[in-house]
Amino acid sequence: MRNLRLYIMWAVIILLVWSVDGTSLAKETGQTPRPEVEEKLQLYKKFEAIYGIPWNYLAAIDQYERSIKKKKQSQEQQDNPEIKRLTAITISPDLWCGFFNPDSLDQELTSISFFQGIGKDGSGDEKADLNNDYDVLTTIIDFLSDYGFQHDDFKIGLWNYYKRDAAVRTIMGFSKIYDKYQTIDLDYHAFPIPKRYSYSYRSTWGSPRGWGGRRIHEGVDIFAGYSTPVLSTGYGIVEVKGWNRYGGWRFGIRDINGIYHYFAHLSSFSKGLKEGDIVEPGQVIGYVGSSGYGKPGTSGKFPPHLHYGMYRDTGNTEWAFDPYPSLRRWEHQKKQPRPEKNETKK
Ligand SMILES: [Zn+2]
Repeated sequence: MRNLRLYIMWAVIILLVWSVDGTSLAKETGQTPRPEVEEKLQLYKKFEAIYGIPWNYLAAIDQYERSIKKKKQSQEQQDNPEIKRLTAITISPDLWCGFFNPDSLDQELTSISFFQGIGKDGSGDEKADLNNDYDVLTTIIDFLSDYGFQHDDFKIGLWNYYKRDAAVRTIMGFSKIYDKYQTIDLDYHAFPIPKRYSYSYRSTWGSPRGWGGRRIHEGVDIFAGYSTPVLSTGYGIVEVKGWNRYGGWRFGIRDINGIYHYFAHLSSFSKGLKEGDIVEPGQVIGYVGSSGYGKPGTSGKFPPHLHYGMYRDTGNTEWAFDPYPSLRRWEHQKKQPRPEKNETKK
């Protein structure tokens, strides 16, 4: 830590030299992913090469922050159109400049340091700008480097930064997915029932439900025969698997956009699939049934169907939203393309 300033200066020089040559890898692979996706990946990999933090860890932090402030972020950009950021990582002015710093817009390294702010310069302009991607990434890496970048150390670092179990769990899940596919281009989704099976559904969002007291219906019911396969709708991690009084045998899957997908009333689970596993869009996770509304094993109290719910994590809590528009979109899209891999996994 004593040589930190020298270390950061050295890192900045490498970053500056490297940024001139930023698009070389994209040319080498001969693929044409979306420019912003490629640009982000290059940025993570630059920081990996310099600080030794795996690029998928950085990508996961960035994606977590993007997922919890989707609306806030766009509002901020509307208010300040001149702020063009590649990453979604934001650090509060209090933390950046120091809680007792009278200047909440402070960019001077000496005064930020004096007030124990964490803001650093990563872009080489001698200013710590919380709207500059290089400065923000350098700052968060510096914070996490105190704990280390080994799996368990990194988790402790994340917890100390976010003070939230869900943040640690989601970020570690994202990083596992990015590591497996070696790309951040994983937005594809699938309809949860294979097209060759017969099924029916309509928008039932918010209608009252008969059992379990005064609750509204937080999801869409897709009616299909017993044992119809149920597919994962996105790239994600199995967060919850097991019995739930209302939902029966159910899965909870956190996708790569931070959305929690809830699959309830299953007759059985796909063999071998367990909590913490990675799933892909179109992968069979279980089978339609009518389990639920009672103690474990209760079944047949209603016609077989898949109850499908979607929840957004806001950083503090989770809110259900209507899955119907997404389901319609996935149902009528073309076949899922495979993700493009930037390199083969080691
Ligand atoms: Zn339902």
